[in-house]
Amino acid sequence: MNRVQGRRGHLAPAALALALVVSLAASLPAQGPAAAPRPPVVSADALMATLRTLSSEEFEGRGAGTPGGAKARAWVRDRLGEIGLKPVGDSFEHPFSFTPRGRGPAGGGLPAVQAVNLIGTCPGTDPSLPMMVVSAHYDHVGVRGGQIFHGADDNASGVAVLLEAAASCVRQPFRRTLIVAAFDAEEMGLQGARAFLAAPPVTKDRLALNVNLDMLARGDKGELYAAGLHHHPTLRPLLEPVAARATVRLLFGHDVPGSGADDWTLQSDHGVFHEAGIPFVYFGVEDHSDYHQPTDTADKVNAAFFANAAATVLDALRALDQGLR
Ligand SMILES: [Zn+2]
Repeated sequence: MNRVQGRRGHLAPAALALALVVSLAASLPAQGPAAAPRPPVVSADALMATLRTLSSEEFEGRGAGTPGGAKARAWVRDRLGEIGLKPVGDSFEHPFSFTPRGRGPAGGGLPAVQAVNLIGTCPGTDPSLPMMVVSAHYDHVGVRGGQIFHGADDNASGVAVLLEAAASCVRQPFRRTLIVAAFDAEEMGLQGARAFLAAPPVTKDRLALNVNLDMLARGDKGELYAAGLHHHPTLRPLLEPVAARATVRLLFGHDVPGSGADDWTLQSDHGVFHEAGIPFVYFGVEDHSDYHQPTDTADKVNAAFFANAAATVLDALRALDQGLR
């Protein structure tokens, strides 16, 4: 996440009312004799193993263009291969460079950063359908003032769910091809998503939707948000059944223009898709006291919430795959 520093997301009253309606709906029992589909089960152990690895000291906060970032990239790249995704072109690695904003210590501009997106595909059963891009950024802010910023929630958690989604797709393919994107340099201004859309693997009109995962592991409130339905109300009926059977409180909101820091529309990689006219759904939790602090560590994660959040995302991906035009 790349939220406005020093401000925490709290819902405006209107959004809170909406969240209440959704949560009431979610608490109703399944109706009718036909058993409602249940969300998939995702292993908390597998998720936590990924989260612990990526947020460990060894990866040094995964800063874009740093040795820790390169280690994280190699680790995620190898996982994409083990899962059985297909590389895009001849590699999962898609390097790019950008010049960060700001001034160096001598007052001059900052040097260009070399970064690398990791992109794979899980071919769908109907190649004629527009594709879904499921994304999570693997970078975090690295080391500052001699302290490692571990980025367990932000965003080792999203990468862990991304890998589970990819494995689920390989086991049981979606209708549409899933493009699995682990973006770099999100924390430096959504740079990975910008590079992806500057040279997409297929033309943009073949991209139906971005599902972006960023900060999914902190169950401090037991709530997971799906943002984006304000912009894309036709997706709401696809996600309402997911909310109703979810084992977390899946709330809709944080996407209303004019609500300041409560509007997450442009605050992670999905914002770049939005600006390119590609619909998005963003999954994540509200900010917490460890957001962008060295204390965003694995021990703060509620593993049960994390597994339920991952299951909810996998359920949503299937529902979106089925229901999207
Ligand atoms: Zn962040």
